[in-house]
Amino acid sequence: MKQFSQVIPLQTELKEQRNKTHKIAFAPTMGALHLGHVSLIEIGKQYAEKSVCSIFVNPTQFNNKEDLAKYPRMYEQDVLLLEKVGCDFLFAPSVDEMYPHGLDTKVNIDLKGLDSVMEGEFRPGHFAGMLQVVKRLLDIVHPDFLIMGQKDFQQFSLVHHMINTLQLPVKLVMAPTLREADGLAMSSRNLRLSPEMRKKSNIIFAALSHIREHFSIQSPGKLATQAMERIEKMGLKPEYVEIVDQSNLQRVKTINAPNAVVCVAAWADDVRLIDNMILSD
Ligand code: AMP
Repeated sequence: MKQFSQVIPLQTELKEQRNKTHKIAFAPTMGALHLGHVSLIEIGKQYAEKSVCSIFVNPTQFNNKEDLAKYPRMYEQDVLLLEKVGCDFLFAPSVDEMYPHGLDTKVNIDLKGLDSVMEGEFRPGHFAGMLQVVKRLLDIVHPDFLIMGQKDFQQFSLVHHMINTLQLPVKLVMAPTLREADGLAMSSRNLRLSPEMRKKSNIIFAALSHIREHFSIQSPGKLATQAMERIEKMGLKPEYVEIVDQSNLQRVKTINAPNAVVCVAAWADDVRLIDNMILSD
């Protein structure tokens, strides 16, 4: 795997690949890689001859300084994992390399309220920073395929919206969420859970599964309230459980509503976990 920390050498390499008519699949990450990230590279390999992964802990998407400071960083281990899965190119830039003109370079599009619910409500500014970094990375890498996880469902919706609105020439692919044996969604933040909290955190998957099983017989409002209570009873602090339409992220009100997804965010001590489950296509 070739490693790059600067834009120009990476672009020179990728231009050579394109000249050989190789297609490029790209998976942006913040590092501390786990098997969920690895699966993005594997999926990319099904779509394109060459795969690019980026590792960049983007300061502009952290609304909480402590979360940014505590975000796990383990570059050497990440490199080993990427080499094992056969990733071709790694781009790991500095903040200055990513934002040579300063941090104030946000994407200016109407987000149609997709950014004001759920994560948007609890992490103000997060999505503006996330779209800023994804747009910058797309401008650098120019991939044919962008592989992103369902794990961050709202993030995926916003990136989809940005690609459509700006008519960016890239195909967005959704990768399924990889889970631990007990159902907990894999996340870099899981590393920070105490053994006790780690055990309790599978309540999130249990609560989501319960909603999926009962969505055809119970109202979304009632199911969401019950799930909040179950998560709280286990000792986590839920921020929200929302059952929303996948297309506009607005709450659904009817039993078995089509196109629904349930999204959850909860604090496990000082670790913030998110997850979701699609309820109907
Ligand atoms: P992150 O490093 O957390 O910013 O995540 C980078 C990418 O990996 C995003 O597209 C995430 O949605 C995706 N991802 C994170 N966790 C998982 C998981 N458990 N399974 C599949 N993809 C994931």
